[in-house]
Amino acid sequence: MPRPRLRHRSVRLWMLVAFVAVLAAAPVQPDLTMSTASFAETTENTSSKAAETRAAPATASVAQSRFPWTIGGAFFIGAVGAIGVISILTANGAGKTERPANPREWSKTDVANAVSVLGTELAKIAGLFADGSSKHARYASALTEMEDKIASVQTPEQLRAIANLLAAENHRMRVETQSMARALEDSQNQIATLRTSLASAEEEVLRDPLTGVSNRRAFDAALRAEVNAASATEQPLSLAMIDIDEFKAINDRHGHVAGDSVLASVAQLLAGHARNGDSVARYGGEEFALILPRTESTAASILAERLRQRLMAERVHVEGVPIALTASIGVAQLRPAEGADQLLKRADRHLYRAKELGRNRVVTTGT
Ligand code: GH3
Ligand code: MG
Ligand code: MG
Repeated sequence: MPRPRLRHRSVRLWMLVAFVAVLAAAPVQPDLTMSTASFAETTENTSSKAAETRAAPATASVAQSRFPWTIGGAFFIGAVGAIGVISILTANGAGKTERPANPREWSKTDVANAVSVLGTELAKIAGLFADGSSKHARYASALTEMEDKIASVQTPEQLRAIANLLAAENHRMRVETQSMARALEDSQNQIATLRTSLASAEEEVLRDPLTGVSNRRAFDAALRAEVNAASATEQPLSLAMIDIDEFKAINDRHGHVAGDSVLASVAQLLAGHARNGDSVARYGGEEFALILPRTESTAASILAERLRQRLMAERVHVEGVPIALTASIGVAQLRPAEGADQLLKRADRHLYRAKELGRNRVVTTGT
């Protein structure tokens, strides 16, 4: 019957603990290589009375310094394993950016690399735990064996042999546990590196390489998110669409490389005027967008006018040649129950109206 058997075992385990504690006085060098066979030898060759007097004070240091590893070792391996698995699993959720991420936008190579690294790490961790649990099982069976032997202990020498065995098993377990902790740490480092490289891959996918500001994809996602947030919180939201006037002529006159420099300078100027929470994006070709959360159209058009004037005053120097530019800007504020597409359409209509009216101006009203 399992229950009495269990109780019997635990009584014997406590007997082992008590005996080790009783033999607390004599300084014994634990023989880490001692086996159960040498225990049997000790049992046969020892005279009980003489040994009792010699060994009574003998095992204090062993009992005091080694016994806690019996329980401690088992707890330690469990704790290291649990901490390792929890931290690796939770690491994925940590440090998330607020910008909406779309995993489909990672390149195929990025995804393949990520799958490969994660697969390797998962296999490594699974292997560690399989290995760890077989070592744990061996440790448990060694303890059980010692428990069984304790029942027949009659002399301090026999007891000392058990104490030495216990010390050896604990030492072995401690070494194995430490190497498992190191392997888990190594695995965690690999995963951290992977997360960093995936984050930068994701960053690249959402950034316009020429100007350094957000690209169209990032803009679409940000506008949707801001429209949802503004609708939910009933806060104002404005959008400004900025288009460089007669940019084709700039390209024609100064060349495409100069045109690229103009685009980069305009982006920097817009980014320099953005407040915390605003988003600057290159919407396409020579057109930029500015998302202005918590901003009404009046404040948005004041900002747009300031930007228009700054752009008009700007000179982009390419190979010593100053290039002047102007821009037209359409501004719209989100209306109740309006979606991102409708807001974008209205801002775009205002931009075209600004072009129609002669360029180099801001238009905020109209349908
Ligand atoms: P408008 O005032 O009506 O906006 O006239 P525009 O010339 O600015 O507009 P249009 O649409 O006729 O021409 C835009 C030009 O922008 C054409 C295209 O070659 C140029 N362009 C688009 N992308 C880039 C780029 O990345 N680099 C450079 N250098 N030029 C670009
Ligand atoms: Mg243009
Ligand atoms: Mg254009």
